[in-house]
Amino acid sequence: MVARISRACLALLTVALATAVIFAQPQFSDAVRAYIKVQGPVVALTNVRVIDGTGAPARPNQTVVIREGNVQAVGDAASVAVPPGATTLDLSGRSVMPGLVMVHEHLYYPVGPGVYGQLGESFIRLYLAGGVTTMRTGGNVNGFMDLKLKALIDTGQKAGPAIDATAPYLNGPNTFSQMREIKGIDDARRQVAYWADEGATSFKAYMNIRREDLRAAIEEAHKRNLKVTGHLCSVTYAEAADLGIDNLEHGFLASTDFVTDKKPDACPGQGRGQQTIAALDENGEPFKALVKKLVERRVTLTSTLTVFETFTPGRPVPPGLDVLLPQLRDQFLQAHARTAGNQQSVYLKLFPKALALERAFVRAGGMLIAGTDPTGGGGVVPGYANQRQLELLVEAGFTPLEAIAIGTSNGAKYLGRDARIGTIAAGKQADLLVINGDPSATIGDVRNVEIVFKQGVGFDPAKLIESVKGKAGLW
Ligand SMILES: [Zn+2]
Repeated sequence: MVARISRACLALLTVALATAVIFAQPQFSDAVRAYIKVQGPVVALTNVRVIDGTGAPARPNQTVVIREGNVQAVGDAASVAVPPGATTLDLSGRSVMPGLVMVHEHLYYPVGPGVYGQLGESFIRLYLAGGVTTMRTGGNVNGFMDLKLKALIDTGQKAGPAIDATAPYLNGPNTFSQMREIKGIDDARRQVAYWADEGATSFKAYMNIRREDLRAAIEEAHKRNLKVTGHLCSVTYAEAADLGIDNLEHGFLASTDFVTDKKPDACPGQGRGQQTIAALDENGEPFKALVKKLVERRVTLTSTLTVFETFTPGRPVPPGLDVLLPQLRDQFLQAHARTAGNQQSVYLKLFPKALALERAFVRAGGMLIAGTDPTGGGGVVPGYANQRQLELLVEAGFTPLEAIAIGTSNGAKYLGRDARIGTIAAGKQADLLVINGDPSATIGDVRNVEIVFKQGVGFDPAKLIESVKGKAGLW
């Protein structure tokens, strides 16, 4: 009897799931339709190399069948038939990999001294063009923009990735004109509760938060099954791990754990922390003890090497600058030239150390996810930077397959969405990138995205980019 009931329930559940899947694709607005390259109830990708996002080796000569937004079948040509009537793309020489799932994204950008422009309209198109099909925004200074754009994308009115929308930053006393100050534990709870009620699904603590306020914010978020990350300074990584934080941003570069005279609840300056990190031995006991704690407490770490690369002398000009408003592009190029000449920069030591520490964290069992952080001094251009981030993970010593897994399935796991996204397999959502070349061998090939499938609908990266070229900076 029990078995029969549960089987009946299972059948109902299956019907419900199938229905949900069929209606998952929204009605697109005319504006969105203009960016669509491939659409059909059934799409077959043939003769393609499949990089599934799990870290497994690439498989050549595969057929991928997409039906109603999902991967219906994936396998070699002998085992998977192309359904009659399918829109078929012969992808010889191409690879498919999962859409990127990146977690330190923003819909704002530095446009002047301490001022951040709200560039959500152009950034959502650039993220999608670069292959990002799901992203978490990591702190916002736009108020409702992240939430509203998420809703407009979900309902097909705008083109962009699925967004795990973050609330405005949780910070203590600070001098940012676009950030409030939490005034105690009740206030911390109130801020979390308010934004959670408004639909925010993640929270980010910032550099001057006090431990008690962070504790209260984490408790309030966890009550609602929401996660909290932090770009910290006043609170050490070890303290935050003990408070139950889920995630820490910027690898180890925001850690003040090794500043010997650090006062509780006070940020000694990000620079002071970074001096200690630059001098840290990744094989030494102090670092290993911190890693052990983070791994034990299941604190996930976010790599944002792209933003730190822009601070480091001798690094190449980052990709994508020509989509920026010319004034912003020139501003960044001048900064880049100044950086190149700064032989006193801590980043000469710090940047290679950042790579080494992230690799050591993963080798010790830590969970690494990836993002780009289009803030800093500019030059981190959405979409382009997400591809660059994968290249930098390979520079850090990960294999291309590991880097791809960090940028896809690891992000999906962190967001709790890995049953649907982050890997390519039958039954999963058809979020996948068609890439000219083989990024499992040459990671730089991730720059050659030709089609971005999101829920089975193929978007044209070139058209998305063209629509914002020279304007990212205005909107
Ligand atoms: Zn950030």
